[in-house]
Amino acid sequence: MELTALTIRNFRNLAALDVEWPERGAVIIGDNGQGKTNLLEAIYYLVLFRSFRGVKDRELVRFAEAGFFVAGSAGHRVTAGYEVHGARKKVTVDGAPVGKLGDAVGRLLAVSFSPADRVLVAGGPAERRRYLDVLLALSDRRYLDALTALRAALRQRNAALRRGLAEAAWAFDEPLAHAAAAVAAGRLAWVERHAARFGELCAALGEADEPGVAYHLHRGGAVDAATVAAGLAGARERDLRRGMTTIGPHRDELRLSLAGHETRWVGSAGQQRTAALALRLLEAESLARIHGTNPIALFDDAFAELDARRQERLLSLIGETLPGQAIITAPRDAEVPAALFDRPRWQMQGGRLAA
Ligand code: ATP
Ligand code: MG
Repeated sequence: MELTALTIRNFRNLAALDVEWPERGAVIIGDNGQGKTNLLEAIYYLVLFRSFRGVKDRELVRFAEAGFFVAGSAGHRVTAGYEVHGARKKVTVDGAPVGKLGDAVGRLLAVSFSPADRVLVAGGPAERRRYLDVLLALSDRRYLDALTALRAALRQRNAALRRGLAEAAWAFDEPLAHAAAAVAAGRLAWVERHAARFGELCAALGEADEPGVAYHLHRGGAVDAATVAAGLAGARERDLRRGMTTIGPHRDELRLSLAGHETRWVGSAGQQRTAALALRLLEAESLARIHGTNPIALFDDAFAELDARRQERLLSLIGETLPGQAIITAPRDAEVPAALFDRPRWQMQGGRLAA
């Protein structure tokens, strides 16, 4: 997949950008705080219609402006606009407004690599559940629908539980059980299918410590609705007492390990970085296979802190997995591997791009 044109208005510090992208992408160099990550965030906004930094839409609006607008062409033309007043978000694909965001999610495909990805490995289970949810939502519309249903059922059941409205809460058990089973089944199947490849990618990046990945269902969780429903029924008293739903995939874990110990707790900084890179490469491979096209690669200062050998191995994997368009940012030329510098070099300053 290839991004050809990009338009940005009032997205963070990017007041107005109109960019024609070269086929192979570009290297963007700029001092700290000039807007490099903001630019990648704007591109990725067209993938998920939310920030990859996990902030609210209103934070993305340029200070003192009424809203932002981003449009990109990559085969399809996708646009997204947000207005602070009324918190209105509007998305179009090829000129037609979409009713549900799910209809537009994943039209534009990208994978973003950043040193901040280390939280995928070092952070709590929610970070890794989000990794799976994003990847699977971009891969399978039914997964996204199940995830949306799960969130709605959980929100409403928990609201009823907090107010002690038992009957109102139990009314959500059935839809919750169905959505929960579908989400857990989707995650479990993906992890089982890709676990061996995760180990290979870690090893190819230089990890020698028996890397592993497994999906752990929380107590009472299951991949069939009847079992989840039984679990929910059995947990009713506890849920009422605690004012929250204690059964379901929102408590499951994607566990990364080194020789059987959780990477989160035992991994060195470099080992955690390696596992995070392997997760991103796996994401790229998985999306490429399902969509039959390579995602656009966004490398946000992604090569900093890597030793020479790891960097070389990463580059060789990138050459296989993401051979196409790449947008690479860094504060200095020296932070961009020579192998990726076969692209035009642009300069980012104060939210403006210059050749
Ligand atoms: P680094 O090399 O440090 O990662 P960067 O070029 O990636 O820097 P960005 O994160 O893209 O920097 O941009 C940060 C700048 O954007 C900050 O100066 C910040 O004040 C500005 N900024 C963030 N949000 C907004 C906003 N809503 N409106 C205007 N400016 C914003
Ligand atoms: Mg940055």
